Amino acid sequence: QNILSMNSIEVLYDNVLLAIKGVSVQVPKGEMIALLGSNGAGKSTTLKAISGLLKAERGRISRGEIKFEGTDITEMLAQKRVEMGICHVIEGRRVFEHLTPDENLTAAAPMGMSKATLNAEKEKIYSFFPRLAERKNSQAGYLSGGEQQMLAIGRALVTQPSLLMLDEPSLGLAPFLVEEIFGIIKQINQEQGLSVLLVEQNALAALEIVSEGYLIENGRVVMHGAADALKANS
Ligand code: ADP
Ligand code: ADP
Repeated sequence: QNILSMNSIEVLYDNVLLAIKGVSVQVPKGEMIALLGSNGAGKSTTLKAISGLLKAERGRISRGEIKFEGTDITEMLAQKRVEMGICHVIEGRRVFEHLTPDENLTAAAPMGMSKATLNAEKEKIYSFFPRLAERKNSQAGYLSGGEQQMLAIGRALVTQPSLLMLDEPSLGLAPFLVEEIFGIIKQINQEQGLSVLLVEQNALAALEIVSEGYLIENGRVVMHGAADALKANS
């Protein structure tokens, strides 16, 4: 069944700009799905509609419905969605640069998480990202771009999401690092059953790890299919 079901969503910014025009996306539980398309197509807007981050940008859903685990979340506050298990790593690897990775993970933990659970989550994250483990007590601002992206993903994982949404995690990274990070995301997906919605301009890299892709152009889904079929098409 689908963990996420987005049906005919329209998003307006500033009450005038129709950024997405009836987008429908389904994420089957435990699968990795990619949203592909060029700059300005509406991919980030789609993720923000799901995580509830539109309001901060004077955007709103003007039509359609989003269901998460069967619950209508279309109007739900962003914080409530996080509590339900939706985590959105926004574009640009936001981390606290003056804190260490370890402190960044602590700061990202949900309120009320026990110390034992937090430590267990950190150990899991460090085992998936050995590079991060090596640097866990350095200042995060001095980490490389790839390490900061790993930390941004780690900060999401510490909230124990069931749906992880990543916006352009490959941006600005060397191809070997993209391969490494995508491989780790795939591993987490397979070992933990984490559902992933991945936004990428780098379609070739994304189609290596996802099962299905949606191609978004000008605010609409113009193609949807199995990754293999889309690869053959591109
Ligand atoms: P993508 O993620 O595919 O690059 P976006 O979802 O960021 O595309 O943008 C889709 C459209 O919405 C673009 O025309 C963009 O200029 C516009 N847009 C995005 N964010 C805002 C905003 N905060 N205010 C107004 N327009 C926006
Ligand atoms: P990238 O090209 O991937 O951003 P860098 O060349 O910036 O990588 O960094 C390579 C390695 O050196 C990384 O492990 C990074 O954490 C470390 N590093 C970079 N700058 C500093 C610094 N000012 N102090 C300590 N370590 C650093």
